[in-house]
Amino acid sequence: MAKTPNIAIIPSAGFTHLFPIIEFSKKLLQFHPDFHITCIIPILESLPSSSKSYLQSLPPNIHTVFLPPVHKHDMPQGVHRGAQVQLTITLSLPLIHHQLKSLNDSTTSSLVALITDCFAHEALDFAGEFDALSFMYLPYASMIFSLYFCNSTTKLEKEEKEEEGEEYYSPDSIKIPACVPVRGRGLTESLYDPLVLKQFFERAEKFRLIDGILLNTFLELEKETISGIYEEIKGNGIKTQLYPVGPITPAGSSTEENGSGSDCLRWLDQQEPKSVLYVSFGSGGTLSQAQMDELAIGLEQSGKKFLWVARPPSDDVSAAYLATMKDNPLDFLPEGFLERTKGQGLVVPMWAPQVPILRHGSVGGFLSHCGWNSSLESIVHGVPLLAWPLFAEQKMNAAFLTDVLKVALWPQSGGTVGREEIAKVVRMLMEGEEGKEARKRMEELRDAASNALEEEGGSSRRTLSEFAMNLRARA
Ligand code: UDP
Repeated sequence: MAKTPNIAIIPSAGFTHLFPIIEFSKKLLQFHPDFHITCIIPILESLPSSSKSYLQSLPPNIHTVFLPPVHKHDMPQGVHRGAQVQLTITLSLPLIHHQLKSLNDSTTSSLVALITDCFAHEALDFAGEFDALSFMYLPYASMIFSLYFCNSTTKLEKEEKEEEGEEYYSPDSIKIPACVPVRGRGLTESLYDPLVLKQFFERAEKFRLIDGILLNTFLELEKETISGIYEEIKGNGIKTQLYPVGPITPAGSSTEENGSGSDCLRWLDQQEPKSVLYVSFGSGGTLSQAQMDELAIGLEQSGKKFLWVARPPSDDVSAAYLATMKDNPLDFLPEGFLERTKGQGLVVPMWAPQVPILRHGSVGGFLSHCGWNSSLESIVHGVPLLAWPLFAEQKMNAAFLTDVLKVALWPQSGGTVGREEIAKVVRMLMEGEEGKEARKRMEELRDAASNALEEEGGSSRRTLSEFAMNLRARA
């Protein structure tokens, strides 16, 4: 009997490094319904509840294997949060190898390819042993991938600096060969941590040694950067194939629409078309108490309708990745705010069904931390943005959305963004000329995104099909 072709996928810890690679796998299965996907899931401390509910609705040909959790006390003390994700993989490698070996030894299926999230790239070293193809999935803009080409330039600087007895690997010295000019607005701050930067360069080295890179972006969105990357690849004689296959965003499940999130969808049903500003900082973004107060009063003073996913404040901008709910989850809002804004807004604690919200006709703007998934979801639904980046690569995304694509407005800030500025920029987005222009461009991008994936001959559809054919040839 012929063996079932099996693709092993390895996400990394955290919801936003789990669902994008699985959504990609679902697209792949549309081309090859006879394939089987095995998703080997590394866990840092415990599986986030968002991941748990997401995994409940997988199709039967995606099988999950949960690895035993890795704990922070197993890591060196004081490791930057950005580095913990990749360290979780490093510590899980023996178990990942064990799982891959049993897939490879199976009498009913054959291991065709290994696809890992970028932070799980160390597992790609096993591909050769099992004669499987190796791919890295980057749930980021190609602009972020273009950072990988900094490697050679920076290495030279490293040698020069070392000769002069200086520290090497400074993010300030990074030159981005293929990237659109967004540097003025700041690179990702976590690169200033030596371990994060070291891991970054390991990923950058690895991509040259594997069969391909899958990027969650599309040609029409990042033409200049993608062409630049193709040039770099060709110019450096790199064999690795580049596959821009996006925008890959979740469809939004009926569980989300009917579960606890249904209250806010019902509330949206009662609002005027495009009248509501949706406010959310991704799966883990957090504001300080002072900033939370300014945002609350700013929203109130704007007079515009809002739907706000609010989390307990923290001075650590990514604190909510680890947060748990308190008894009264909204007691951190300014005194009397909820009563005063009863007819104007709805505040949802911790989590809301973002995709159904962005799809809803009453939503006319999105105040977002500009995580790449949120950015793509906004593009796919044609909703213009207010950029409010917090950490990681979000500033680069925000600069790209604001300065290059011109589909976002970015409030002025010299630290905490004040209530007057917030009220002004919210009105600007929701009713001003700048907002109308941004919406028009966002709607054009929405159509381009839909064409890239849905149309026969669309750029990402063609790329996906080519990728699927490469796998079939190997099966
Ligand atoms: N999300 C959601 N409900 C929330 C907050 C976030 O469904 O209340 C989803 C959102 O739709 C997106 C993801 O979580 O798919 C956040 O990913 P992103 O890359 O924007 O930010 P990150 O969480 O990585 O900072």
